[in-house]
Amino acid sequence: MSKVLVIGCGGVASVAIAKICQNSTIFSEMCIASRTVSKCEAMKAKWQPTTSTKISTAKIDANSKEQVLALIEKFRPDVLLHVGLPYHNLVLMQACAECKVHYIDTAAYEPENTNEPVWRKQYEKRCKEKGFVAYFDYAEQWSYFDKFKEAGVTALLGGGFDPGVTNVFVAYAKKHYFDRIDYVDILDCNGGDHGYPFATNFNTEINLREVSSPADYYENGKWVGVPAMSIKRVYDFPEIGEKDMYLLHHEEIESLTKNFPEIKRMRFYMTFGQSYLTHMKCLENVGMLNSTPVNFGEHKIIPIQFLKSLMPDPSSLGERTVGKTNIGCIFTGEKDGKKRTIYIYNVCDHQEAFKEVGSQAISYTTGVPAMISAALLSTGEWKGAGVFNLEEFDPDPFMKMLNEYGLPWKVVENPVMVE
Ligand code: NDP
Repeated sequence: MSKVLVIGCGGVASVAIAKICQNSTIFSEMCIASRTVSKCEAMKAKWQPTTSTKISTAKIDANSKEQVLALIEKFRPDVLLHVGLPYHNLVLMQACAECKVHYIDTAAYEPENTNEPVWRKQYEKRCKEKGFVAYFDYAEQWSYFDKFKEAGVTALLGGGFDPGVTNVFVAYAKKHYFDRIDYVDILDCNGGDHGYPFATNFNTEINLREVSSPADYYENGKWVGVPAMSIKRVYDFPEIGEKDMYLLHHEEIESLTKNFPEIKRMRFYMTFGQSYLTHMKCLENVGMLNSTPVNFGEHKIIPIQFLKSLMPDPSSLGERTVGKTNIGCIFTGEKDGKKRTIYIYNVCDHQEAFKEVGSQAISYTTGVPAMISAALLSTGEWKGAGVFNLEEFDPDPFMKMLNEYGLPWKVVENPVMVE
């Protein structure tokens, strides 16, 4: 029986919390801690009557290591599931290593202020050395390996869907379908419609920072950079139909090409509608996507945070979103001396997710694997002292739990390839 401390109480957290409550044979106690404690209390009131997992709540500022240490000291969790913002990954990892608590997150670290001079210098060095310019990368989190090893606990990075399930799909493909994987295309399609001209389906600030960044892919040991949204393909997604998709940088490429160096090329595509792209470009052109504080009258404001305050809260989209998501990986490689291509994917229905847990499918597809990651560390089925990405563990128990907890997957031979 395990005690889990959940950090954050937004869209993704609300699904992870609901799924932890469905799994009280593993999770005996859960503390939900976030900046706005009233949201944690509302979550407790919603789920406590349905579960024997004992729920408590706490107010916390995840920027404050002292507050995190004090809460860990008080609640004494076995695992900390961080489903808040990636700005806080390092503080939470430091606290977990010091207190010997397993750590899980769903997005690679990035600083809130990308103009902070010490970080900026390191970032510019990385851009030159590694060749990719996204603000998020795994280097700093991986550098905590020895701290976690000495503490004898696990840090599991990127335990959502992408990164997360996509990493497990790669490990599963290698274990069961290929002697060698040559090419991987990760395709993330949201075929859902929420009826707004412009809204994001997870945290607005993180989403827009990610999507407006220059893009790249990995080929023959190098990153190949291209301008944001400059590579477009049309793909006919199973159970959804044809959608425009665009090449993006994504963090799982960084870990997967390190852990599977045989992979010659890896690309990541995400679908976007024209209305989203037009709004984003226009807001970018007027400076609304900047994360550097500016003076507004007597106040300092951060434009992208101001924009976020005007836009629909992604966790409120569930009721009005119809359609499906399809996220998966297309592999090309060799098995027993023969060329093979397969597609492993999950389809998730927005309204089905809403009926079950009150959330749209993007939160659902992230919150379910976050719970599974916490469950596998709690039971010891996944074990290791240090910092890991999901592809470094046995994919089979994870794939089994995806089927059991609402994200069934399919394997299709000879799919239509992306040009
Ligand atoms: P939300 O904005 O809905 O939730 C973020 C939560 O973090 C809120 O509860 C917020 O509190 C809390 N928070 C913010 N700052 C602090 C702080 N200083 N101290 C304590 N709590 C804080 O985000 P989402 O649920 O949409 O996304 C959560 C994470 O999941 C993000 O990192 C996102 O990148 C990641 N993600 C990963 C995906 C994957 O497939 N791997 C897919 C989608 C998202 P408050 O309510 O007070 O603001």
